[in-house]
Amino acid sequence: MIEIQGLCKHFDDFRALEDIHMTMESGKVYGLIGQSGSGKSTLLRCINGLTTYEKGSLKVDGVEVSSLQGRQAREFRRGIGMIFQQFSLLSRLTVRENIALPMKCWKWDKRERERRVDELLEMVQLPDKGKALPRELSGGQKQRVAIARALAMNPKILLCDEATSALDPNIAETIMDLLSDINKRLGITIIVVTHQLSILKASCEQVYLLEKGRLAAQGDITSLFSQPPEALRRLMGSQGETAVSGGGEGTVLRLLPTPEQAEKPILSRMARELGEDFSVLRADREQYRHGAVTYLLIQVSPKVLPAVENWLGEQNIAWAAEPRQEKREEEAV
Ligand code: ADP
Ligand code: MG
Repeated sequence: MIEIQGLCKHFDDFRALEDIHMTMESGKVYGLIGQSGSGKSTLLRCINGLTTYEKGSLKVDGVEVSSLQGRQAREFRRGIGMIFQQFSLLSRLTVRENIALPMKCWKWDKRERERRVDELLEMVQLPDKGKALPRELSGGQKQRVAIARALAMNPKILLCDEATSALDPNIAETIMDLLSDINKRLGITIIVVTHQLSILKASCEQVYLLEKGRLAAQGDITSLFSQPPEALRRLMGSQGETAVSGGGEGTVLRLLPTPEQAEKPILSRMARELGEDFSVLRADREQYRHGAVTYLLIQVSPKVLPAVENWLGEQNIAWAAEPRQEKREEEAV
């Protein structure tokens, strides 16, 4: 379990992290998102003890990370694996030698090392690439090698810093699938840091969003994305994910039917029963780790709005009014 309370990290006058509170339970997959420069990597470096913090507390399994020194600190870090965007493999070593590096550092004997490397190569589905050099591998394969190396010492936590950002979307997805599988099979806590929202959705359970060093939103992934708070809207907006503007008069409503409700023709029934028209701006079904979420965005004229609200209430269909577009643009500046 990772418990962070009132954590602050400053670089001289610059506040890279300010008053961060987070609780991460063992064995789950967490997403840490935010614009570039929002403090994601700095937070990971605090968690694995590579950097100190000025104020607050950061405990991993009850141990205050900043209190660790010397051998204790090294042993603590052995329990935390890390992978990066740039893979960080040593170019002159083979795949096997790269994966064996941590075990060599910890002076495992050769037989055990070789046995463990075989096991890890199987786990990341590269059983026949052991003798290859990094330059002979694709990006996705290099990241698999980096994952194998990160898992070599049986870590309890795996930190992934933009691990899929340099990969094509479909390859990124296979890497996320591998990480999900590792989480399920080995029960390792995984923190996925990314600025890409798309790769989060299928793999993470809980999400923390940083904005300029502060925690700006948090929650489980389905509720966060089905009713995005302002900070998440800003991040989505910066990635062109909210092209929802109704144009014309009217309020944009986000309908969030349950899976059972979503199987029925909600919109045509509402139009028929109310005898009114409205525009459908978007309808989507997104697959998350724990099921699918359907949402419908409709635009309703002021005249019809009360009747629609009433009808949705009677049918027990969850909904929320979307903030007005002008307001969002103002806040994004
Ligand atoms: P992210 O990973 O979200 O892109 P970082 O954690 O790398 O962001 O950086 C957060 C902020 O802290 C950035 O503005 C960055 O310039 C600053 N920063 C990070 N490391 C240092 C450092 N060693 N010295 C000074 N400023 C730093
Ligand atoms: Mg970073």
